[in-house]
Amino acid sequence: MIAARVSAWAIACAALVAACASSPRVPVLSSATTPAAAGLIDIRTLLPDIVEDIRYAGRDNFVGTPIDGYLAPRCYLLRPAAEALQHVELALRRDHLRLKIWDCYRPVRAVRQFVRWANDTSDQRTKATHYPNLDKRALLGDYIAPVSGHSRGATVDLTLLQCLGPEHACIPLDMGTDFDFFDPLAHTDSPRATPAQHANRVRLRAAMMEQGFANYAQEWWHYTLSAEPTPQTIHDAPVQ
Ligand SMILES: [Zn+2]
Repeated sequence: MIAARVSAWAIACAALVAACASSPRVPVLSSATTPAAAGLIDIRTLLPDIVEDIRYAGRDNFVGTPIDGYLAPRCYLLRPAAEALQHVELALRRDHLRLKIWDCYRPVRAVRQFVRWANDTSDQRTKATHYPNLDKRALLGDYIAPVSGHSRGATVDLTLLQCLGPEHACIPLDMGTDFDFFDPLAHTDSPRATPAQHANRVRLRAAMMEQGFANYAQEWWHYTLSAEPTPQTIHDAPVQ
C-alpha cells in the first residue's frame, strides 16, 4: 500500500501541471474553508498594483471554462511565499521589468476538474491553443496529475513584462509559448526556443531564484518557494 502511494506520488511529481518538487509523502488535506483560515494572503495586500491575469477564474485557459474553486481572480499565497514574490517584483522594477501572475494557490477541487477534463477525450476545444502536437490521451499522467504543488500555497505561475517608461504600457516578453502550453517547447531550457526567448526565460529564472524560488524545468512559468512553509499540506478553500 505504501509502495503504491509512493509510486502514485512519483507519477504526480513527474507531471507538468502537478509539479511538486521534493515532497515524497502523501499530502494531507487541510480542513480550512477560507484562504485566511489556510494561512493564505492576497498578494495585493503586499503589492496593490501587481499585474495579474488569473486565467482559471475565466474562460481563457486550457479547459475553456472558469475552473471550480475560483470564485474571484485573486492570487493567494502563504505569507513567506508572498513576501518572497514581493521582493522579486521590487527588484525587477528597478530594471523596468514587472511580473504578470497567472496562478498562485490552487484549490484541490480545481485540480480534480483538470483530471475530469483530461479524461473527457470528446472535448477537444482547446487543442489548437494548448496541446496542438499531443493526443489528449497523453496529457493525463505526463501533463495533468491528481495532486498539484499549487494546492500547498507556495507555488506560482508567472511571466515577465517590460515597462519602457511612464508613457508606455508594459508589454510581455517573448517566452516562446503561452501559459499552460503542453509541449516540450515549454521546457525552460528547450533547444527549440530562440536565443532571445531563452534569454527571457533565464532572466525570469534568475530573478525568482534570487529570492528562493525554484523553477520546474518542464514549465518555464512555474516556481515554488524552496523553503516551503507546509510542504505536506494541501488546501481546498475557494479563491474568493
Ligand atoms: Zn504551475
